[in-house]
Amino acid sequence: MPLIVGYSISGQDNDSTMFGKKVPLKRCPGCGYRLDFLATNPDYAGPIIKGMDFSATYDNQHIVSRAFRDVVLEKGYPGVRFGPFTRDPEHFHLMIDRVVPFDAERRKTRFERLCKVCGDYGDVVRATPAHLRTGSVLDDGFYRTDLFFGSKDAKSALTIVAPRTHDELAISGLQGLEFHPAFGAE
Ligand SMILES: [Zn+2]
Repeated sequence: MPLIVGYSISGQDNDSTMFGKKVPLKRCPGCGYRLDFLATNPDYAGPIIKGMDFSATYDNQHIVSRAFRDVVLEKGYPGVRFGPFTRDPEHFHLMIDRVVPFDAERRKTRFERLCKVCGDYGDVVRATPAHLRTGSVLDDGFYRTDLFFGSKDAKSALTIVAPRTHDELAISGLQGLEFHPAFGAE
């Protein structure tokens, strides 16, 4: 078995969308899909399904609770920021600055419907279990993959944490975090 170098985190759908049709986003004139997959929307109204400390919108944005933010700030994990929402002060957009390269070849990720105008793909399929281009266990804190997975406007990077960060989050009492092992290069 390849080495486990970290864990990806996912969450349940919270029955909301961060970027509806009315939100002005830069779009490709060729395929019509958004160009910036690191954008945020401060006017997002928050999760419809409440009570989860980590959840996902239908367009695959990770939403965390104030309790989640408190744990991360208390531990001082690097690599992460919290985008505020004017209409929901109890939730935040999880935004990650540190990048770990994803090994699409070993994961056999499929890239479909190449747009010749923006160079992006309509669909990027097969993300987890993540395979990362690193030979060693990740240092504490948060990372995102360099690749964005999913379809159309709903593509997003994987959220990855170091093994020790995983261990601490797993016993933190936070609700709704689903961890999946991320493998390194052999
Ligand atoms: Zn395009």
